[in-house]
Formats: sequence, structure tokens, C-alpha cells
Amino acid sequence: MVTTHEEIVKDVAKLKRRPNLESWARLRESWSWDDVTRELDLPGGMYNLGHECIDRHANGANANKPAMIWQSAGGALETYTYAQMKAESNRFANALRQLGVQKADRVFFFSDRIPELYFGVFGTLKAGAIVAPLFSAFGPEPVKERIQRAEGSVIVTTPKLLPKVNAIRKELKSLKHVIVIAHREGGKVADGDLDFKQLTEAASTDFDVVKTGPEDWSVMHFTSGTTGLPKGAAHVHNAVIGHYATGRYVLDLHPDDIYWCTADPGWVTGTSYGMFAPFSNGVTSVIDEGGFGAKRWYEVIQRHKVQVWYTAPTAIRLLMKAGAKLPREHDLSSLRYVMSVGEPLNPEGVVWGLEAFDLPIHDNWWQTETGAIMIANYPSMPIRPGSMGRPFPGIDAAIIDDQGREIAEPMVEGVLAVKPGWPSMFRTYWNDKERYDSRFQNGWYITGDKAKRDGDGYFWFVGRDDDVINTAGHLVSPFEVESCLIEHEAVAEAGVIGKPDPTAMEIVKAFVTLNDGYSPSEELRRQLIRHCRERLGAGTAPREIEIIERLPKTRSGKIMRRLLKARELGLPEGDTSTLEED
Ligand code: AMP
Repeated sequence: MVTTHEEIVKDVAKLKRRPNLESWARLRESWSWDDVTRELDLPGGMYNLGHECIDRHANGANANKPAMIWQSAGGALETYTYAQMKAESNRFANALRQLGVQKADRVFFFSDRIPELYFGVFGTLKAGAIVAPLFSAFGPEPVKERIQRAEGSVIVTTPKLLPKVNAIRKELKSLKHVIVIAHREGGKVADGDLDFKQLTEAASTDFDVVKTGPEDWSVMHFTSGTTGLPKGAAHVHNAVIGHYATGRYVLDLHPDDIYWCTADPGWVTGTSYGMFAPFSNGVTSVIDEGGFGAKRWYEVIQRHKVQVWYTAPTAIRLLMKAGAKLPREHDLSSLRYVMSVGEPLNPEGVVWGLEAFDLPIHDNWWQTETGAIMIANYPSMPIRPGSMGRPFPGIDAAIIDDQGREIAEPMVEGVLAVKPGWPSMFRTYWNDKERYDSRFQNGWYITGDKAKRDGDGYFWFVGRDDDVINTAGHLVSPFEVESCLIEHEAVAEAGVIGKPDPTAMEIVKAFVTLNDGYSPSEELRRQLIRHCRERLGAGTAPREIEIIERLPKTRSGKIMRRLLKARELGLPEGDTSTLEED
């Protein structure tokens, strides 16, 4: 591997393993989604993520191969083969059927990373219902908003998280069943709730998968917008083609790989790449219940001999803080390939991989709506540190201007857009077709990100084209936080921005004005932070709150977050012609 100032050039012949994608240009030229689709099973024209990820391996030579090696927070191990995953997910599918769950009903998952979550997700998919994951760090408000919006009828949760569900339960008219995975934490399941273990133990391990077609709903992930409440980006079973193909050519999964994705299953990376890509490729996936810890993470790699590792920039920056000596004290020689997603990966992060693991870190780009990786660095392709890479072979990406016209000149900033029609593209925002339609212009899907493309087709991230905040790889809607703040009796108005942060990329910062009768104090500021934490959860609540006299607004009364941000950062205020007069 040769490192120049600009590029990390790889000698493909010397890589630890011959990559599935030997030449990006050649594969791009010969690419056919139909060819890759033929590598799937699709029995009798059935497209079902549960079948493609689990049953097809369980029914063949991979039956006794470990699909999942689960490590508990305390370090205990449980291993499940594809055959066991099939049996357990079948039990859950039968349990749902007995509860009267129908095709396309929304089944929410609000759980930490435990095996039952994985059984439940695949069981739901096989039953033809829609999997709707929730981030376990959410407070009751985001849980309520999402279940209401999707009219969820079932939630699967744990005793630890149940109080957050109970706090809002009365307001959830659509919710019929609360299934509690109680046996791991101990404790009794309350009357009216259902015990996961009892329910599944009583159910058969045989199940006829519901014959979903390519356009039947599969997964719904909520994502944040600048205005309005979170939107349920709804995906279909056809997405498995994208998961499988990117698993093969971006994740470079080989049959005997041990793979580890550190993303939380409450977000799209945790499902698309924590479940669907590895399992559809039939590899063994490590799932660690524990949270981040530099030492813990290196121990996971060492203990399980992880070969392919998919993580995120915030984690990499935290690992960098812990130093390059620590990884050298572990045997990480199994590692072959490291990737990152979710936020921009700074060039220092890419190169630090060489120092720590003798491997550069490969950035790639995608989002909830795209369902699978769109732009990537590949094992065989030179890396330009700081660039997200080049489009996946079957994907057309471009930089467009505000009229939706492609900008051909290199390194001119514009909006990042993707040509619609790829298999894993979301099909709607649940009950919000208007908003869905607004994401398309002039034959392009508008991503909401700004970027540039260089003369060789590498894409470079510039920033978001909206006010959505990216904190540690999780998108937060300023509107959701503002709504929570103004619910507090002391708050008149609120404006929320993302404030740059060296580790988390951005933190949530709120500016508030007070109602008559309230005056600014440290005590009130703390009270407001507590109020948001209780309702929204720690990851979404503002880390900083500033009480100010007046918020900048347009003449029509809209809070100008852009101006709040410019003032916070000491940047030029730009066009203020629409600013309300004093
Ligand atoms: P989500 O829909 O929650 O997965 O978030 C997607 C958003 O995260 C994208 O639209 C980007 O703003 C950001 N993002 C994801 N991957 C990258 C990356 N590699 N570089 C820069 N930003 C990224």
C-alpha cells in the first residue's frame, strides 16, 4: 500500500483477500441489477427479506453455520446458527399470526441489541408485517410520535425500556399488544402485556413465509426533516437486492467472513448493514450488546477475529483520542477491511487507520431513504482521504443546481442527487405522499446534502442543505426539539441548531425566549435541559441551552435558524433582507 499526499493507492495483488469488486470501472460498465438479483433465491417469485437472509441459508449448506455470535454486555457468548435463527424467527412469526397481526401491520421494536430483537425482526418480515425500529435511547415523546404516525399495533420491548412506553401508552390508540422480552432481565410481565418467551416457546418452529412480492412493505425507519415531525421512510422487500449487492461489493463479504457492524439497530445502518447485508450474504455476524469503549471494541475484534468492520466517524474519533498504542496492544491481525458511515470522515480519520491497524478506513455515503450504500470507497480502489468515494456500480449520482440541472464542471458545489430506480429506494413517507414527491426534481432524487464531484468522479461531502442536525451520526430534527421546549411553561419560543463539535460532529444547541413572569437563571436552564432529556432522551435533547431576549425571525414570523447559527459561529449573517424589523 502506497500513501501519497493525496491518495492511498492499493496494490490489489497484495491485499489480504482478493476483493469481490476487482475493478470499479469494469464492474460499473458491465453492471446489471438483473444479474445480481439472480444470485438470490426468490422462490416462486417471492421476495421476502426474512427468507433471503435466514431461511435460504438454513435450508441449504449453511444450516449449521453461525449466523450470529452475540456477546452480552458482561461478555457472555451465545451463538445461533442459520437453522436456529430460522426456528426462532418462525416462532415469532407464528406468535404474531396468533395475535392477529396482518400483512403490512406495523410492528415496532424498542430494544437494546439482544438476540430476541433479531429473531423478532426476521419473524415480522416473514409474517409480512412491517418492521419499525426505534432507537433505544429515545425518550417517551419520540416513541409516541412515531407509533402514532405509523399507527403501530405491536411493540416489542424490554423491562428496562417499558416505563417509557407506559408513560405514553394511553395516547397510543392503535397499539394492541406490548410484548416484553423479560427473561434476560428477570422480573414479571404485567397483566395485559405479553411475555416474549412464553409467547414464542408455545409457538411452532415451522412457518410458511407470507408470499410477499418485491413491492410489499418491509421496513419503516423514521428520519428527521427540517420542518414537521419525523417521517416514516417506508421500504419494500425488493430492497434485499441492494443489501445483498452492496454487502458483496462494498462490504466485500466472503462466505467465511466474521463481520461486525457497530451501528445501533434502531437506525437504518443497524438494520440494512447490521442484519440484511451480512445475512443475505450468509456470513457470520458479531453482535455486541455493550456500548462504546476503545478497549472493549479492540477486545471484540481480537476475541472474534473480526475481518470486516463497519463503524462510524464519531467512534473513530473517540478511538483516535484513546491513541494508536491501544490497538497495537491487541491482536487485530484478523482485520482485513474497515469502513465508516453516517457523517463525514475527516482525512485524518482515514489515515489514522493505517497507523492503528495498517488499514485505511473506507468512507461511504447513503441515508435512510436510499436504503443501501450509494457512494463508496472499495477495497480495490484508491482512496482520496476526505472523499466519500464513487457511486456504487448500479447507481447514478450527480451534483445538481437549484433548477435540478446536472453540474458537469468538477468541484462545483451543488446538491447531491441520485437517479431514482435503484432497488432499495424508499417508496414513500408513510401517510405523507406530498413530502415524498417533494424529494424529486427534474428526474432526480434530492438527497438534502450538498457535495462536489471531482474530475475523476469522486464525491466530496460539503454539508447538509437543510437545518437537520447530525449528532454522532444520528439525525435530529430541530423542529422536534423546539416543540418539546415550547411545551415547557417558561418557554415562549425556541430555535434549535447544530453546533459544530470536534467529536460528535454537531451537538444540539437551543436558543429560547421566556414567557412573561420568568427570568433567565442557571436553575431554569438546567430545568429545561432536564425537561428535554426526560421527554426526548439524552441523544436528542439539547446539550446547550441559551436564554435570549429575542429570536431572529422573518417578517412572516419564521425563526431564522440559519442566522442563529451564523451568530453562534461568528460567521457572516448572509442575506437578512427577510429579517423582521426591530
Ligand atoms: P440517516 O438517514 O440517518 O442515515 O442520515 C443520512 C445523512 O447522514 C446523510 O444525508 C448525510 O447528511 C449524513 N451522512 C451519511 N454518511 C455520510 C458520509 N459518509 N459523509 C458525510 N455525511 C454522511
